[in-house]
Amino acid sequence: MLPKPDAIDMLRDRFADVRTRIETAARASGRSAEEITLVAITKTHPAETLKTALELGMRDLGENRVQEAEEKITELGRTAARWHLVGHLQANKARRAVGLFDVIHSLDSAALAERLDRMCDEEKRERLDVLVQVDLGGEVTKSGIEAAQLPGLLAALKECPHLNLIGLMTLPPYFENPDCSRPFFKTLRELRDELHAAGHFGPGINSGKGELSMGMSHDFEVAIEEGATMVRVGTALFGERS
Ligand SMILES: *Cc1c(COP(=O)(O)O)cnc(C)c1O
Repeated sequence: MLPKPDAIDMLRDRFADVRTRIETAARASGRSAEEITLVAITKTHPAETLKTALELGMRDLGENRVQEAEEKITELGRTAARWHLVGHLQANKARRAVGLFDVIHSLDSAALAERLDRMCDEEKRERLDVLVQVDLGGEVTKSGIEAAQLPGLLAALKECPHLNLIGLMTLPPYFENPDCSRPFFKTLRELRDELHAAGHFGPGINSGKGELSMGMSHDFEVAIEEGATMVRVGTALFGERS
């Protein structure tokens, strides 16, 4: 079933609008929009919506559940997009994730890193790009690794030849006012700068100095002002999820 023509027009308009907002925020902070990847978050939306998104020129698609992503990737094709996993990855789905995704944003433990690396080896996957998800919200968000635990994870990553650490990701608690996300974004940038200086990042997508995956529909402009190189946008492109 094809989406109705007005659904296509609506998505085209929203895509143009989001791109304009990215460009405006980038310019306002003396940056180029070209160093910012828009990851379109398609969770809960059917495969035909993803197909339309690709036809309109979106290249990076993100999902938060392995099972749901697998169905859509099987339908659209493994090479139809650059596929991103942005949700928590359970250990028992690591093998499937290695087969499905180009980039995993949600690496959050040394055990998961070791497992992913082993799966890459078994599945003959040369290299998997990963970002470490850092929990800067403490009690509130409960996803990602706390900054204090980072050194252990970084040490584990050094022993994982197939994993290419490209940057850091965070998901701040939800605030009505997007400016309240700013301190979280700033903290992630400072952490990224420290890790870059210490030589922890491999070759990235937009930047060799460590990607910053931060900013969603309600706060991506603030994230760009604070240095985001990957913004994860769902609702502003595809509308409210049911
Ligand atoms: C759903 C989701 C997004 C996109 O959220 P929107 O508010 O719809 O833009 C971004 N990142 C993660 C990790 C998500 O789960």
